[in-house]
Amino acid sequence: MGEAAAVESLGGKIYEQSAVVNIERGEPAKVITEQGSVTANFVIVAGNAYLGGLVPELRAKSMPCGTQVITTEPLSEELAASLLPQDYCVEDCNYLLDYYRLSGDKRLIYGGGVVYGARDPADIDAIIRPKMLKTFPQLANVKIDYRWTGNFLLTLSRLPQVGRIGSNIYYSQGCSGHGVTYTHLAGKLMSEVLKGQAERFDAFASLPHLPFPGGHLMSIPFSALGAWYYSVRDKFGI
Ligand SMILES: Cc1cc2nc3c(=O)[nH]c(=O)nc-3n(C[C@H](O)[C@H](O)[C@H](O)COP(=O)(O)OP(=O)(O)OC[C@H]3O[C@@H](n4cnc5c(N)ncnc54)[C@H](O)[C@@H]3O)c2cc1C
Repeated sequence: MGEAAAVESLGGKIYEQSAVVNIERGEPAKVITEQGSVTANFVIVAGNAYLGGLVPELRAKSMPCGTQVITTEPLSEELAASLLPQDYCVEDCNYLLDYYRLSGDKRLIYGGGVVYGARDPADIDAIIRPKMLKTFPQLANVKIDYRWTGNFLLTLSRLPQVGRIGSNIYYSQGCSGHGVTYTHLAGKLMSEVLKGQAERFDAFASLPHLPFPGGHLMSIPFSALGAWYYSVRDKFGI
């Protein structure tokens, strides 16, 4: 919300609820929505896990995944201190990792789980609550007040994908679940390259990116199978 306000304060215009359904490539390019279109010298594609097949070159080398979060009711000081005495934010070391922290009002916010292909799960608690209880059994009788799911975009190398398609379409995507900080750097790289300073952009753009094995049909089951293998290793602490 803060960033949106900053964009508008600098004269930018934001159009909500207006998904881009087609990009007509050319110089200039035309970006088309159901309601209208914008003609632009440069297009930045940053739709990440929600982009679908809009830019086929980008779909081929990334995979949308879902991850889920639950939030407990406010905990007593004593119970909260028994979970994270030093009030750290935690991301565990497993391949299929969990992440958690306390909120200001002493709720535990606990996330994890990966749904390859990013289907919305019918029951978020059923996925995350058992993970939370394995880490913190003392929360067995605690109520879950909030739950949500969202999508992030996975790449095979887990490195973000930055680049240029043709002469004037730029993209940044695929932070593989770690985009909160990186996307701010990406914004700077994009503004630098549009102003003619490509050195830092090119450093990221030169990273090699392979497609997920299995193509459009089989990449999701292949990845789920691979993840299962690594989750077994997690269980044995290998
Ligand atoms: C539950 C959850 C927990 C996470 N926790 C963390 C964390 O603790 N730390 C961390 O670093 N990262 C975390 N992530 C990942 C992080 O949210 C992402 O890496 C980051 O949001 C990616 O930023 P982005 O701008 O590339 O994409 P997004 O924030 O996904 O933004 C993409 C935008 O593009 C829009 N869009 C897509 N297609 C179109 C279209 N055709 N037309 C118009 N608009 C379109 C979407 O509506 C969306 O607003 C988490 C993700 C989830 C889902």
